[in-house]
Amino acid sequence: MIVEILTTGTELLLGQIVNTNAPYLAQQLNKLGFDVLYQTTIGDNRERMSSVLIQALSRADLVITSGGLGPTQGDITKEVSAQVFNRKLVLHEPSKAKIKCFFAERHAAMPESNLRQAMIPEGAVILNNERGTAPGVIIENNGKTLINLPGPPHELEFMFEQYVAPYLKGKYGVQGAIVSRVLRTYGLGESMLEEKIKDLILAQKNPTIALLARKGEVVIRLTARGETELEANQLIAELAETITPRISEYLFGIDDDNMEFVVGQNLLSNKLSLALAESCTGGLVSSRLTDIPGSSSYLQGSVVCYSNDVKVQDIGVANEILLQHGAVSEQTAIAMAAGIRRKFSTDIGVGVTGIAGPGGATADKPVGLVYIAIDGPAGPKCYKNHFEGQRTEIKFRSSQEALDTIRR
Ligand code: ATP
Ligand code: MG
Repeated sequence: MIVEILTTGTELLLGQIVNTNAPYLAQQLNKLGFDVLYQTTIGDNRERMSSVLIQALSRADLVITSGGLGPTQGDITKEVSAQVFNRKLVLHEPSKAKIKCFFAERHAAMPESNLRQAMIPEGAVILNNERGTAPGVIIENNGKTLINLPGPPHELEFMFEQYVAPYLKGKYGVQGAIVSRVLRTYGLGESMLEEKIKDLILAQKNPTIALLARKGEVVIRLTARGETELEANQLIAELAETITPRISEYLFGIDDDNMEFVVGQNLLSNKLSLALAESCTGGLVSSRLTDIPGSSSYLQGSVVCYSNDVKVQDIGVANEILLQHGAVSEQTAIAMAAGIRRKFSTDIGVGVTGIAGPGGATADKPVGLVYIAIDGPAGPKCYKNHFEGQRTEIKFRSSQEALDTIRR
């Protein structure tokens, strides 16, 4: 059973809108156990859409399209679908009545073109669109199934859940389930991480293993197929159990648990309070921490101490330290962490100071040099880092490293 998703719309090809329908459909189909082997995007052009649809139907058993069911001249998906299957378009009276009613309720005259939406390929199953006016259709022909859904995501999603999922379950039975889990790591590069699980990657079958570098982290995605969701979950749990001890130093979260969430959970469970003195990150660490609801339980406060004056006056960094070692130095970072900890009477204080660039570098202090100090019950510690990239990347990496330092 091979499935293809065909998203239509010239605006997708132009990059004017983000294609969210394809991943949505792929995830839903995966949950039902279907293999999506192709995703195609095509503009609103009859010839090209026709040839792509013919190709899709030749290599897939089920093709689901999105978009182009509306009333305008650019909306051609149903016409092209009918033509590919050699069927006439016929007027569907209930849809016509519904569209008329839609305009009457809004006291607007119905443009003739809107009736195009009520034209349905002969013999098709009609999917009522309760969120809009264009109905969707299912056409079956010679063992192939084509489903046309509207483009607006809230309409498409509603129709998929309401009609398409039950239809597919009824027709093809439950195909088993595909489940994914993401292990999120920080602190080790992609290839180094791969080394740690190379044998498992080489021997992978079910679950499959994929390594992906994301912003400030590397993730390991495990995907399992099972007769049931429970079975797929068990397969994933077993493999995760094998992988975890090998990467435990770097593994910080699972699935949607991001670094700021995990740090918050740790602080909460250890009943620790935190304050931050941020220079080069400009408040980014605090901003990320406060993205988590309930962060006021552990984050007492922060100071963005960008200038030396603020470092001295508000955090209590000694003038001599700045004069002797400079603002970007281990000594200043430690003084910032200790100062902010004192200022807010917290268990932990963190200081971040560095050179985000592009200017401000010297021979011994290059762009990307960032000191992160943490001061807590066990005394102060400072870490020297060198981050690559542009200014915003350096800021983000600094914030990720600072959060990881708190986590550890
Ligand atoms: P309408 O009746 O609204 O015209 P339609 O079925 O003809 O619906 P399109 O004209 O192709 O659909 O798209 C309508 C709108 O739906 C687009 O402008 C866009 O906002 C959204 N849309 C379409 N396709 C996608 C997609 N693949 N991902 C996300 N949004 C989409
Ligand atoms: Mg349209």
